Amino acid sequence: MSFKLPELGYAYDALEPNIDARTMEIHHTKHHNGYTNNLNNAIAGTDLENKSIEDILENLDMKNGAVRNNGGGFYNHSLFWSVMNPEDKGRLSGELKDAIDAAFGSFDEFKTVFAKAAGTRFGSGWAWLCVHKGGKVEVCSTPNQDNPLMPNSDFGGTPILGLDVWEHAYYLNYQNRRPDYVQAFFNVINWNEVERRFAAAK
Ligand code: MN
Repeated sequence: MSFKLPELGYAYDALEPNIDARTMEIHHTKHHNGYTNNLNNAIAGTDLENKSIEDILENLDMKNGAVRNNGGGFYNHSLFWSVMNPEDKGRLSGELKDAIDAAFGSFDEFKTVFAKAAGTRFGSGWAWLCVHKGGKVEVCSTPNQDNPLMPNSDFGGTPILGLDVWEHAYYLNYQNRRPDYVQAFFNVINWNEVERRFAAAK
């Protein structure tokens, strides 16, 4: 079995003006495609070949750089595309809204905490909203293509929302203005998908 680059489910220009088409196309067809191919090459002929990506990451040998970087890259981007959608965004509601209010006090405060995690990640990495067993949610940030599923994570939980803050995710349109990109991301979050992931993992 090998991993396949997932479809976005929407056009490259569908997230404009928040995220531009050229960035989306390069990000998907070059970056994510590269992680996917390199992951497949790294696991070919090993006992990881027939495992799910979640299983691979949760039981990762952190010294295996090829699987750590490319397996993380494959999983992280697959989640990232799915939690954005220009048309069917839904609204934050129900149990996830309650969990966010319980953890942060309000949705606006959640946005502040998430934007800070994204903005203060030095160099390349990701900001996450994760859910723990029992339904408690938490914001964290990881470097490079690491994520909270991996054994070294200080945070744990299951990621339900993720934002790529590598420069390749925003530099064409936003140059050094990462905070503007982070704010634009809030306009395109697919809350229906985030809620689905929350319900499945809590
Ligand atoms: Mn990326």
